[in-house]
Order: sequence, then C-alpha cells, then structure tokens
Amino acid sequence: MDLIIKNGTIITATDTYKADIGVKDGKIMTIGMDIQDDSAKVVDASDKYVLPGAIDAHTHLEMPFGGTTSADSYESGTRAAACGGVTTVFDFVIQRKGQGLIEAVEGRKELCEPQACVDYAFHTAITDLTPKVLDEFQKSVDYGVPSFKLFMVYKKEGLMVNDGVLLTALKKSKEVGALIAVHAENPDLIDIRIEEYLAVGKTSAWYHYLSREEFIEAEAIKRAIHWAKSVNAPLYIVHLACKEGLDEVTKARDEGYKIYAETCPQYLYFTKEVYKREDGRNWVCSPPIKGKESQEALWSGIKRGDISVVATDHCPFQSYEKDWGKDDFTKIPNGCMGIENLYPYLLSEANKGRISLNKVVEVCSTNVAKIFGCSPQKGAISVGSDADIVVYDPNKEFVITKDNMHSDVDYTIWEGVRLRGYPVMTFLRGNLVYDNGKFVGKPGQGQFIKCYGQK
Ligand SMILES: [Zn+2]
Repeated sequence: MDLIIKNGTIITATDTYKADIGVKDGKIMTIGMDIQDDSAKVVDASDKYVLPGAIDAHTHLEMPFGGTTSADSYESGTRAAACGGVTTVFDFVIQRKGQGLIEAVEGRKELCEPQACVDYAFHTAITDLTPKVLDEFQKSVDYGVPSFKLFMVYKKEGLMVNDGVLLTALKKSKEVGALIAVHAENPDLIDIRIEEYLAVGKTSAWYHYLSREEFIEAEAIKRAIHWAKSVNAPLYIVHLACKEGLDEVTKARDEGYKIYAETCPQYLYFTKEVYKREDGRNWVCSPPIKGKESQEALWSGIKRGDISVVATDHCPFQSYEKDWGKDDFTKIPNGCMGIENLYPYLLSEANKGRISLNKVVEVCSTNVAKIFGCSPQKGAISVGSDADIVVYDPNKEFVITKDNMHSDVDYTIWEGVRLRGYPVMTFLRGNLVYDNGKFVGKPGQGQFIKCYGQK
C-alpha cells in the first residue's frame, strides 16, 4: 500500500464510522480496522473526520465574460480548490457561434490540462443550437461530457437561447441520456427594469438586485420546469436562489419528475442587504443574492433533499474590474468567488449543528458524482473509488481572509467570516495536495474525468 489514513472518523453521505483507509495506486484499496503495512506512509487522523473530496459542480475558470476574463486561471482556481477540500471541478465550456461541441470542449481541455491541480470535468454551455450541434449531443455524451447548460438570460451578450431551443434540447437530451441545465431568469423583465433605473440615475449595486429580484428568477424556473415536464426530461437548475422557484422544484419532485436544484454558498450565508454596502458590487452575481425568506427556504430545501447540490458558481473578478461598475451597476462583471469556501463553510455550519456532516458530503460530493455521472469513481469513500480524501479538524478555528486564501483574486467576499473546523489535508488520488494551510500539489496533476450520461 502507498498510504494508510488511520484512526479517523469516516463520514460519507450515509454513514459515520471509525476505520482506517488503505490506498494503493491512487485508489481506495481497503477500509477496515487496524490496517498495517510497513511500506505505506501513515497519516494519523485521530480526532479528525475523513471525508470524500468535494466536487464543485459549477465553476468558471479563465472564462471570457463581461469584457474581461474571470480572474482565476485553471491553475489558481484549482489550487484554491485543493486548499478548500475540492478534488474535482466541473468547469463550463462556452460553445461559441458556429462551434462544434467536441471542438469547444477540446479547446478548453487543452488550456486546462497543463494547469489543473485537481481533477476536472466539463459541462458545455450551448449558445448556438444548430441541427449539426444537436446531432453532436450523442458524441459529447460518448466523449464524457453529458451535460449541457442553456442560458435563459444574457440576450445582449449573445448567450441566451429561447424557449423553443430549450425544448428542442430537452427532447434530444432525453433521447441520448444527456442532462440539460439552465440559468433561469427572465431577460425581458430584467432589461426593462434596468432601463427604468438607469433613466432616473439609480445606478448602485442595490439596483442590480432590484432589477432581478425574487419573482424574476422564479418565473423562469417555473417556465423551465414546465418545459421539462412536457417532455418528461430531467432538468438541472443551476444556482437557484429564491424560495418561489424552489417551491416549484419541490412540487415537481413530489410529482415524480427528475428536477434537480443547485444552490451556492453565497446565497446561504449572505442576504440582499450586502448590495446596500458601499462595496456592494463585489457581491454582484446573477442571479443576485436574495432576502432572508429565500435564504431560509434554501436551507430547508437542503435538509429535505429538494436541493440536490451546493456548488460555487466561482467566477471572480479583481476589484479594479468590479470598480468599472461603481457608478453603473450594469458595468459590474457578474460573479463571486467561493471555490475555497464551499466545503469549509458548509462543514462549519454542520459542525455548529445546522445540518448533518453527512448531508454536506451528500450535497457537495456524492450527489454531484451521481447526477453528472462519475460515481462511484468520485464522491465516495469506498473500495475501488479514487482516493480523493479530505482530513478535517472539527476543532480548528479559522477566520477567512484574503491572505489565507489561495486564489489570484485581490479580495474575498468571505473576508472575516469565522468557521468552526477546517480541512487540514486534501489528497487527490492518494497524493497530498494541501497540508495545513499550504498548497503542496503540482499544476498538471489533475486529470480529465469522463462522465457517463443519465441512466
Ligand atoms: Zn455560472
């Protein structure tokens, strides 16, 4: 064996138990009591929890957007991921007009490969659904990228698709075992409001929220669910942030439809009040962070299982770029950071008793692997799975600050947030990549993870 993690308490999505884990060639080879092997490196995890690495289902690394490129490269973003206990990221490929799906994925893969510090998989955001692209769905599923995102917004940016295109994609996805994901907000309501606010000089970040408040997101979520139901296709709603939309998800799930919702840590910790701050633009993302009522609904959605995934939508910009929108909220590049905060924040909330630790593993790791098709290779502590393992110290006190984060961004919206407990080690396929505050992995170490389609 290469590695033995001894005396820890293993936490999976379903179980909590004390055992040792033996690792060989990057895989979990054995789980049991008192594993011995003199040739193996031994890590003592007494008084620690041992968890599967988190899988961030939603990142935008090095993504051209809003007149610039998101501030974390594949290297710095996956470095920060490793230091926050994330061992696989699902990054978004944007298919440009006229581009083929495989062509788009291979372009990003080439960029990511030499930089990746953790494993990676892709979703493709489709912006130009020609018959040729539709024909390529099957090929993409076979290639290992069986999930496609459609934007119901960003009309001017050229990313939006209309409802007809959405329906066509849903139908086809069902046929080939792909999964359609949507960014749900109503673009016309947003554009009309923006125009109205700007015309009367209402330009602060608060109006970003008001131009996209709760029901604007809810309307699009309901519409997407209606379309998905009409062809009985599975649907994944990315970064869901409002109560009314979640209620529709709950209803559809109760009726037996495969509707999955994802929310993000920024919606669980902050409320819309942040947009009233002088530096409110730093929290500008779409959909915006909502009010307390929505926040509470999201937490109960996690508890009862109607929110399947918590992922980050990590898409940070430097403060000088956020400043472009100081006097006009429409010029703020949309996106927040979170890749290094996802697992620590949720585990800290579990540590304080808000939800169970098993639930955190479920929504940050196991469910992601199951929904997007890389289970049980990922998202599990089980014999034969990749040895993607986080050792977590429930007694460590940690205060988030820009200087103890590992991304390339010059601030963090999580500044000053106190956590109870923190990851102390991250292993990627048995290799130590994070050790007590330090990144100890290598760029290029991450591998492409081929996902299978819906079964
Ligand atoms: Zn996103």
